[in-house]
Amino acid sequence: MTFKEEQTFGTKPTAVRDSDHFTSEYVDSLAEKWDDIIDWDSRAQGEGNFFIDKLREYNAKYILDVAAGTGFHSVRLIESGFSVTSADGAPSMLAKAFDNAKARGHIMRTVCADWRWLNRDVHGEYDAVICLGNSFTHLFNEHDRRKALAEYYAALKHDGVLIIDQRNYDSILDDGYSSKHKFYYCGDKVSVQPVHVDEGLTRFEYKFAGKDSFHLNMFPIRKNYMRNLLGEVGFQTITTYGDFQTSFEESEPDFYVHVAEKK
Ligand code: SAM
Repeated sequence: MTFKEEQTFGTKPTAVRDSDHFTSEYVDSLAEKWDDIIDWDSRAQGEGNFFIDKLREYNAKYILDVAAGTGFHSVRLIESGFSVTSADGAPSMLAKAFDNAKARGHIMRTVCADWRWLNRDVHGEYDAVICLGNSFTHLFNEHDRRKALAEYYAALKHDGVLIIDQRNYDSILDDGYSSKHKFYYCGDKVSVQPVHVDEGLTRFEYKFAGKDSFHLNMFPIRKNYMRNLLGEVGFQTITTYGDFQTSFEESEPDFYVHVAEKK
């Protein structure tokens, strides 16, 4: 595992459409700024207790957070009494997560693992796997998506649940980008917007008032494609929420959350 300092996208950033590239995006400099992008307090206010309540509804105790990032959900869940294992494939993000947890008085159980080979590094069976913060979008081809979902499925107990979220890419692709600035990316020191959109790529820019700006290249997953894929890898019941609500107009939500039951 190597820590990388600065983002690299080469000479043609919109040509970078590669599931392996995330470790060149979530580098030290972005990990240091990530919490200014999401703003823990505002984000907690925006989503309320949705994930905590949902996990309790399923009697989940042992949680595997596969996209821990800088630890926002892992820490919230630890503080709500869950037993959490925090995984991520980017060492810089995971190191920041550990520091964030430590600053709050917790020793985070961390595993540096790529989702596509998750069970090579994570052992044990969990009541719930969570993959949050629009993370799954970093997989650029169907084979990688199927592989990752199959790995999540295998990490779950027989009656376990996967909670996975995504941006409303249908609306970005079909109607153009808009945001309520209420969920997920809540920081007020940063502007977040796509600088390139096509059916195979959304390239987002995260721009700070000073000179700093970061980019993330993401695959725009359509909602029904994702629901079908979850079903095809074996999940039995899939419930989709729009901005944490059960009823919504298709174009309205900024984000979708899918709750996929294994049994
Ligand atoms: N969940 C956190 C949040 O909401 O703040 C972080 C979200 S960030 C958009 C996506 C995270 O997914 C990054 O920390 C990145 O390193 C991780 N990631 C992307 N592709 C991955 C892969 N193939 N395996 C493991 N982690 C991956």
